[in-house]
Amino acid sequence: MSTPKILILGAGYGGLMTAVRLQKQLNYNEAEITLVNKHDYHYFTTWLHEPAAGTKDPDQCRVEIVDLLDTSKVKFVKGTVTEIKREEKQVLLQSGESLTYDYLVIGLGSEPETFGIQGLKEHAFSIRSINSVREIREHIEYCFAKYKMEKRPELLTFIVGGAGFTGIEFVGELSDRVPELCKEFDVDPSVVKIYNIEAAPTVLPGFDPELVNYAMEVLSRKGVTFKISTPIKECTPEGVVLADGEEINSTTVVWTGGVRGNAIIENAGFETMRGRVKVDPYLHAPGHEDVFIVGDGALIINEETDRPYPPTAQIAIQQGENLAQNLTALIRGGELKPFVPALKGTVASLGKGEAIGLVGDKKIFGSTAALMKKVIDNRSLYMLGGLSLVLKKVKL
Ligand code: FAD
Ligand code: NAD
Repeated sequence: MSTPKILILGAGYGGLMTAVRLQKQLNYNEAEITLVNKHDYHYFTTWLHEPAAGTKDPDQCRVEIVDLLDTSKVKFVKGTVTEIKREEKQVLLQSGESLTYDYLVIGLGSEPETFGIQGLKEHAFSIRSINSVREIREHIEYCFAKYKMEKRPELLTFIVGGAGFTGIEFVGELSDRVPELCKEFDVDPSVVKIYNIEAAPTVLPGFDPELVNYAMEVLSRKGVTFKISTPIKECTPEGVVLADGEEINSTTVVWTGGVRGNAIIENAGFETMRGRVKVDPYLHAPGHEDVFIVGDGALIINEETDRPYPPTAQIAIQQGENLAQNLTALIRGGELKPFVPALKGTVASLGKGEAIGLVGDKKIFGSTAALMKKVIDNRSLYMLGGLSLVLKKVKL
C-alpha cells in the first residue's frame, strides 16, 4: 500500500495540535502529512481581545507555523481553502492548487454568527484574526484622533454587541485602554462611553450568578454600561437599533454575539447545526470514515446536560491530541479511542489583574483568577510549541 496522505486544514488549536502530535508519534515514512493554513503564522485566538483593544501587540499573539513543525515530517502549505470535494477526496485552494487526501482533518475554526441581523456584516467589526483585530485597534485610535477635530460624541461611543465571554473579555481590555488613549489624545474621559449590549436577561448567560455579578461590578466600575435583555435588532452606518426601539449612535460596533462553524464545511455538503457537524465519538463526520473534524467545526453533545459543549480552545486542543493518537492507530492497525472531553474549568479575564473563573467546582475571583488565566494561556503555549514557545511568548 502507498504511504497514506493526511491533509490537515487550518493551523488553529485543533489542526496545529493534531499536526504537532502526529509529527511526534509517526515515523518519517509512515504518512505524508500536509498542513494548510491561510497565513504562515498561527495566532492565539484566545488572546485576541487584547490586541483588539490595543493592550497587547498583535505580533505577540502569533508565531510562525514552521517554527513549530518538523518540516521533514509535516509539509506546510500557505493557502486559503475554498472548497472540499468529498467524493473526489480533494481540497481546492484559492491559488488554484488542488490537494488530495486519504484522511482529511478539518480544523478551520469558526466565523461570526450574525443571525441574519441586518447591517452587522457591513458595519460591525469582529474579533476573529490578527488582521481583524489590527483593524479594530487602528480604528479606535482613529476615532480618538478624529474626535479632537470634530467633537462628535458618537466617535467615542463604543458598542460591543453580545456579553458572552468574548464580549466581556473585550470590554475588560477596552476599559483598561481608554484611560491611556484619553491621556494620549487629551480627551476628557467622561466623554467616552462603552456599552455592552446583551439579548439575554443576564450577561454570560448560563454562567455562575455570583461570578457574573462580580464581573458586572468590576466592569461597571471601569466604565462599562451594560444593557441586558436588549437584543440588537439592526446595525447601521450610524450605530445600532435595539429591539426596544432605542438607537445608539456610534462609529464603532464590535459584534461578539456568537460564532458558527466555517462556511466551507457547510458548503461541502456536510449536515450542520450553526455550521458545526455533529461528529461521532472518533470525530468522524457521520458517514465519512476518512473525514475528521476538530475544534469549532465539531459539535459534540454533553450527555449530562444534553446540550452541545461550547466551542473552546480547551476542547479543540484535546481533540487534536485524541485525533493524532487515532490517526496513528489507524495507520498502524490499532484501536481507535473515543474522544471524551476532560474539562478543567473556565476562566475569563476582566482586564488587567481581574478575572473570574470556575475551576472544577471552585469559584475564583480577582487577582487569583487573573493569575490562573495566565497559567492557562501559558499552558496552551506549552501544549502547542513546548518550552521554546513559552519562552518566546510567555504571559507574565
Ligand atoms: P482556530 O484556532 O480559530 O483556528 C482556525 C485556523 O484556520 C486559523 O489558523 C485560520 O487562519 C485557519 N483558516 C480559517 N479559514 C481558512 C481557510 N479558508 N483556509 C485556510 N485556513 C483557514 N476558548 C478557550 O478554551 N479559552 C479561552 O480563554 C478562550 N478565549 C477566547 C477569546 C476570544 C477573544 C475568542 C474569539 C475566542 C476564545 N476562545 C477561548 C474560543 C477559542 O478561541 C476557539 O474555540 C478556538 O480558537 C477554536 O479552535 P479551532 O482550532 O477550531 O480554530
Ligand atoms: P457566545 O455565543 O458565548 O456569546 C454570545 C452572546 O451574544 C450571548 O450571550 C448571546 O445571548 C448574545 N447575543 C446574541 N444575539 C444578540 C443580539 N442580537 N443582541 C445582543 N446580544 C446578543 O459567543 P462568544 O462570547 O463569542 O464565545 C464563543 C465561544 O468561545 C464560546 O464557546 C465561549 O465559551 C468561548 N470563549 C471562551 C472564553 C474563555 O473561556 N475565557 C473567552 C471567549 C470565548
